[in-house]
Amino acid sequence: METIQSLRDELAEYKIREKEMASRIEELSDFIENAALPLHWVDGQGTIVWANQAELNALGYTIAEYVGSAITKFHVDEDVIDDILTRLINNETLENYKARLRCKDGTIKHVLISSNVFRKNGEFIHTRCFTRDITTLVVEQERKAELIRKLEESELRLQMANDIIESSFDAIISKDLDNIITSWNASAERMYGYSAAEMIGKSTLVLLPESLREEEQEIHTQLKRGERLTHFETQRLTRDKKIVDVSLTMSPIFDSRGNITGVSKIVRDITERKLEEQRKNDFVALVSHELKTPITSILSYVQVLLSKARKTEDNFAILSLTRTEMQVKRMTNMINDFLNVGRLEQAKIQLSKSEFELHILIQEIIQETQLLQTSHNIECRHCQAIILYADRDKIGQVINNLISNAIKYSAHKSTITISCEIVEKNVNISIIDQGVGISKKDQEQLFQRFYRVDDDRIKNVSGFGIGLYLVSEILRYHNTTIEVQSERDKGSIFSFSLPFLR
Ligand code: ADP
Repeated sequence: METIQSLRDELAEYKIREKEMASRIEELSDFIENAALPLHWVDGQGTIVWANQAELNALGYTIAEYVGSAITKFHVDEDVIDDILTRLINNETLENYKARLRCKDGTIKHVLISSNVFRKNGEFIHTRCFTRDITTLVVEQERKAELIRKLEESELRLQMANDIIESSFDAIISKDLDNIITSWNASAERMYGYSAAEMIGKSTLVLLPESLREEEQEIHTQLKRGERLTHFETQRLTRDKKIVDVSLTMSPIFDSRGNITGVSKIVRDITERKLEEQRKNDFVALVSHELKTPITSILSYVQVLLSKARKTEDNFAILSLTRTEMQVKRMTNMINDFLNVGRLEQAKIQLSKSEFELHILIQEIIQETQLLQTSHNIECRHCQAIILYADRDKIGQVINNLISNAIKYSAHKSTITISCEIVEKNVNISIIDQGVGISKKDQEQLFQRFYRVDDDRIKNVSGFGIGLYLVSEILRYHNTTIEVQSERDKGSIFSFSLPFLR
């Protein structure tokens, strides 16, 4: 009896325990199913046999897409998952093994896997895998590494730039908008004789010869507008009050918001070059001067002979002497150009202004040109009777040089037009050709002394590159400028404007 009773009690107790167990299992199942940590099991063949909700949520797959599939499908690195499975088969326990998983939306998650194998009677049942998402951490680390790399790179670049600045042969200086020097390299010390310690924080005014203050003001205004200045030739003052010829290249310095905060300057000492140019000019002036007398004498003899030949109607002599006269005149023009360059260099050019009729000057030039040159057709447009007050010879030389260029740089038989358009109190004189044209880049340098365009199409055209320099200088002396409108292959228009009296 007692035994039956105790068996019953035991059974009742067992049922209670069983109930408790069932509820415990349910709790445990709920715990792992809904745990925040992603968990999954993989069998001995590498197939996923179970995964909790957190794992599915983390990777974005449905249970049907995930469970039943090969685990390798979800790993980015094949060798990594192969290694994980091999280690687990060999009874290793993995702790925080780094891997990359592919999510459904194509993104990649960086995870740490901790896992070992559940075995029954030595048989591989499934792995117990815990996955910890460390993507944010990895991305953050990568971003940090990238930032460090960029920082190191820009430090290196800065160092290189500093080295270049310090070892540069040119003086490199920067200043703020109030002309206060903010940097001063070794060459600046050498060139000006002041040390960086003496100059940083001081004004640049001490470096400026008194007579150039106005010019500096203009440059400053230009830079404040954000414009750059390249190879501008001027002069500066050293510590021992010596004047040095310099070429300046200046650029505005912008902050990250695009505001101009200062100016950087590269200053090249061109004293030697200037001296060299001076020596060359002196030599050219001397030679040109010496050539002038014999050439004038040759020209007079040729002209006397020519008039004799005309009288005797000696056609061969007329032809040869006309050509000789033409060549001698060309030579005279060249010599005059050289002499003028020399005079300009020494600011010895003087204008001799008088009243004259522009259309008559133009007619004379056209007639003389056509006499010597029949290759091109020269036309005059709107050249009405107006009176100018200017240096007749020099304006004649400007027009002559422009026509002679138009002839040199355009095809035979093409037309050259001289147009005189009245705009209010000014006359706009243009020499228009249909020639090879000039690129925008060359147009910027065209009026520099000795500048010639490097172009295969005109490599056989002779010249010294001083014609346009003279044109621009003569016009500068007349307080006006030469303008060019041109495009490669589309011809050129050189024009300038002068006030007229009536
Ligand atoms: P030069 O003709 O003696 O070379 P210039 O100073 O007169 O010197 O002209 C400078 C350069 O400008 C020339 O070498 C030429 O390349 C270019 N140029 C001048 N005028 C013209 C023009 N009308 N058409 C095309 N190119 C021109």
